[in-house]
Amino acid sequence: MSSSLPSRGIRVVVTAVAAGVAVGLFGGAAGAAPAAPAAPAGGSVIRDVVLAVHGGAGSIPRGSLSAEREAAYRDGLTRALRAGYGLLQDGASSLDAVEAAVRVLEDDPNFNAGKGAVFNTDGEHELDASIMNGADLRSGAVAGVHNTKNPISLARMVMERSRHVMMAGRGADVFALQNGVPYTTQDYFFTQRRWDALIDAKENAKVDSGGTVGAVAVDRGRGVAAATSTGGLTNKLVGRVGDSPVVGAGTYANNRTVAVSCTGTGEVFIRGVAAHDISAIMEYTRAPVQRAAATVVNEKIPALGATGGVIALDPRGNLATPHSTAGLINGYVTRDGRIVTRLYNDETPIG
Ligand code: ASP
Repeated sequence: MSSSLPSRGIRVVVTAVAAGVAVGLFGGAAGAAPAAPAAPAGGSVIRDVVLAVHGGAGSIPRGSLSAEREAAYRDGLTRALRAGYGLLQDGASSLDAVEAAVRVLEDDPNFNAGKGAVFNTDGEHELDASIMNGADLRSGAVAGVHNTKNPISLARMVMERSRHVMMAGRGADVFALQNGVPYTTQDYFFTQRRWDALIDAKENAKVDSGGTVGAVAVDRGRGVAAATSTGGLTNKLVGRVGDSPVVGAGTYANNRTVAVSCTGTGEVFIRGVAAHDISAIMEYTRAPVQRAAATVVNEKIPALGATGGVIALDPRGNLATPHSTAGLINGYVTRDGRIVTRLYNDETPIG
C-alpha cells in the first residue's frame, strides 16, 4: 500500500474556539433567565438555498494549500452541488439530491468518507453513514462498514429495502452484496495522506478528526432531507461509532422544521443529540434555523466539551452554517443556480 505521494498532505485540524456567547441556554450562569440568545456567533442566515454540502469542521489555514489542492477542494464541493442541483432541477426529491451530492464527496479522495477515509487503530477503514427523509421521518444508517464503496447509498437501501433503520459491520456489508451495491476491497479507500495521519496520530497518542461530508436539501415540494458520511476519527478504536450514522445526533430531517448534517467530535454530538435538538428548538420555540443551530453548536456542544459545526436548511431555503471550530468547509447552491464554496470562512461564487 505504498505510494509515491508526498509523505504529508494538508490536515484539517479541529481547533477549539471560544463560543462567544457569555450566557445562554447551556453553560450560562446558574439562575440566569433562559433568554432568547442574542445573535450568537455563527447566527447568520443565507436565503434561497436549495442544497448545501459540507466537508468537515476544522480549518485550512489560508495560504497553506497549493493552488491545485485548493482547486481540488472547491471542485469536489462544486461537483457535489451540481450533481444534487441537477436532480432538483429535474424535479427529483431532496432525498435523491443529498444522496447524489454525498456520493460525489465519498468518491473524492480529499474528503474523509468513502475513498480517502481515515484509518482506525488497526489500519483499517470503518465507514459510517446515515440519511433521513423529512416528509415521513424515514431514515437509514450503516456503521462500521468495510467493503461498501458508497456507504450513503447503502444507508438509503437499509431505509428502503429492509425493515430496519441501522445496520452495522459484517451484516451491513452482506446486505450490500445481496442488494447489488458495489463491493470493494479495503485498499480502494487508501490514501497516503490518511496513512501518514495515522502514523502521526499513533506517535502522538491522539485521535484526529476532519473531512466528514454531509448534505442538506429542499425540493420543489418543500420536502427536506439530510445525509452524512464519514470514516470517523483517525486512530479511533476498532468498532468505535461516531455521531454520523446516529439519526438525531449527526443527521436529522423533518419537514416541519429543518434538515441537519453535523461534523465534529462525534461522542459529544451523540451525548448532545445535536441534530435533533436543533429541530426540537425550532419546533417547540419557533426559533429560526440560525438561532436554533447556533444555540446547539455555539453553546450546548462547547459546554459539553467539544467543537464542531453543522449545515442546517429549513423548508423555506434558509441555511445556517454555525461552527465552533475555526472553519467549516462547505458550499451551497441557491434556487437560481448560484454556487458558493467556502474553505476559509470566505465566499467564492463559482457561477
Ligand atoms: N463526527 C465525526 C465522527 O465523530 C467526525 C467529524 O465530523 O470530523 O465520527
